[in-house]
Amino acid sequence: MTDLLVTNVRPDGGETADILIKGGRIAAIGANLPREAGVPVHDGGNAVAIAPFVEPHVHLDKILWGLPWHSINVPPSLRAMIDNEVEIRKNLPWDTEERAGNLMRQCVAMGSTHIRSHVDISSGYRLDNLHAVLRAHEKTRHAVGLELVAFPQLGMMIDPGTADLMEAALDEGASVIGGIDPTEIDGDPKGHLDTIFDIASRKGAKIDIHLHEAGELGLSALKMIAERTRANGMQGRVVVSHAFCLGDGPADAVDAMIDILAENGIGIISAVPGEIDFPPMFELARRGVKCAVASDSLRDTWNPHGNGDMLERCWLLSYRSYCRTDEELVAALDMGTGRGADLLALEGHGLDVGCEGSLVLIEGENRAQILVDRPKRSLVVKRGRIVARDGTWVA
Ligand SMILES: [Zn+2]
Repeated sequence: MTDLLVTNVRPDGGETADILIKGGRIAAIGANLPREAGVPVHDGGNAVAIAPFVEPHVHLDKILWGLPWHSINVPPSLRAMIDNEVEIRKNLPWDTEERAGNLMRQCVAMGSTHIRSHVDISSGYRLDNLHAVLRAHEKTRHAVGLELVAFPQLGMMIDPGTADLMEAALDEGASVIGGIDPTEIDGDPKGHLDTIFDIASRKGAKIDIHLHEAGELGLSALKMIAERTRANGMQGRVVVSHAFCLGDGPADAVDAMIDILAENGIGIISAVPGEIDFPPMFELARRGVKCAVASDSLRDTWNPHGNGDMLERCWLLSYRSYCRTDEELVAALDMGTGRGADLLALEGHGLDVGCEGSLVLIEGENRAQILVDRPKRSLVVKRGRIVARDGTWVA
């Protein structure tokens, strides 16, 4: 934590002001703030200042970025994709720590100063991926906050020992219990969800479940998740990632499910997939469901696309949701900033006095234009420390 005076910026695209950060917190915002001895000054060049982006769903242990180009040979089934990844990861020239650190630095350079990452836990991997990502974070923690999800990518009920390892992960640095397609991967939705909720409620952990299951199958899983959220008193601590069933399920059933999600404080994260119907994010937000966009799988054995840029992800949501007015465009931007922070319950996210002294400067006219044009980030600040300039990590 440190001090910094950022002058000549336009908070959220409004009137020109200076922002004073002291002890890692925003101490003052106003025109022509006095210089203080010992406080470095950065001239923002009339850029727009926004609160940092939040990356609420990525897989730091899967990233192949920085390695020679990986040509994806798409296997014929989900199970084959999973097995394919395990084989490829056995023989990579960089270890998980190096690859995870690479992606963290990229996320920071693009303006994200907080990441929620899933890490694969299985009887084969044990806790190796968790430990490697934590080691990588030791070198980046001054620039980016990190929370880790113990994720049973290879299945949990079908891979004995995985649930115990997920629970052990909570004692070694993870804070969230993951899950995945309880019917299509594990073939036992009740067993899968009961196990997850049991671990989370005993250990005081949050939950974040990958749910790709479509239509009625996915809606049935969401109903079971809501029942267990209520029964365990976990309202506000459960997130479902993807929830494609909210995009492709029957309209009346989706409508009813949105009320159930809001009542039970269940959040929704979408990576805005290009080819699949995704949840109606703005409708969810309007009806009180916490939601955000995320990168998810990028530049790995699953997906050749992606660059860790949450501004681009917000643009994708805007594009696919037919946002046109400034109000709609700014709402799309908020899905990668304020709404992500709210979903993850991040303390002090924002551009107000008393908030964490973290911000992103972007050269542009206003937030709507920035969302459309996606200029590079001229400065990224984490708790008063400059951590990236001109789209490049400097921390
Ligand atoms: Zn994912």
